[in-house]
Amino acid sequence: MRDEFDNQTKEVLARRVGYRCSNPNCRKLTSGPQEDPTKAVNIGVAAHITAASQGGPRYDARLSSEERKSIDNGIWLCQNCAKLVDNDEQRYTADLLLEWKKLSEQAALLEVENLSPPSESSIVEDIELLRFYSQCFDRPAFQDPFRREGSMEAFDRAIADTITAINTGALRARDGTILAQAKGKSYLSNPEWREKMDTIVDLLRAIRSRYLLAVQTGQIYLGPEHQGQQFYDIRDEQVAEWMDSTRAEIIQLFSDLCEEAGIPPLRFPRFFRRRWDHYW
Ligand SMILES: [Zn+2]
Repeated sequence: MRDEFDNQTKEVLARRVGYRCSNPNCRKLTSGPQEDPTKAVNIGVAAHITAASQGGPRYDARLSSEERKSIDNGIWLCQNCAKLVDNDEQRYTADLLLEWKKLSEQAALLEVENLSPPSESSIVEDIELLRFYSQCFDRPAFQDPFRREGSMEAFDRAIADTITAINTGALRARDGTILAQAKGKSYLSNPEWREKMDTIVDLLRAIRSRYLLAVQTGQIYLGPEHQGQQFYDIRDEQVAEWMDSTRAEIIQLFSDLCEEAGIPPLRFPRFFRRRWDHYW
């Protein structure tokens, strides 16, 4: 028997996150108008954090049936992300999904509180936000040539963390602790700046998709892991070139934005230092 959520639980889950997918890397709107003016489309899913029935992803036998279908065990996701998290329970653990839920609810709350029209102080706030995003780019994943990355997995995670930081305003360290807390890009009151940050996030997402594709097709070979280090081999030079040029484009776009805002552009000194201390 599956412990399904009732309709009210689903509705509240959706509303608590403003009908957005709770994956901080996605944040897709899951609701909108249908052609029929009396109807709305919904592409959201109330997903189970631990599975609704035995054998399902992240199933937790310790939960009672009531707990399993309670709102505490639910998370609002778009259809794609719901599929994604159920296909890879090693990567998408219950703890990670709970973290997503919390972040997404915080983001929705900030958005609701911040409905006042833009003022002079909002320009100052915009500049502060850009400074924060600038800090998010200050990591090896944006500084080293792709071929010199210490770890492919860490590279991919760093890109994912950067997307999360720009979308939700939470910048995390390797161990998951929050280094800095600001607001997501939807709080920028200058619409042009917001649009540029959207483009940057699209490019960051493209990097992750390209990386995944390269691994799947063998353009990047990932070897076995040994003592926390994973051997890798880039077998298609075009992938490395594409990665480097796409990152250069991101850095250029962001630096232009900094210039407009009157803050220092990204400048990455290419001196050698120990990268990914965690891995060496
Ligand atoms: Zn999603």
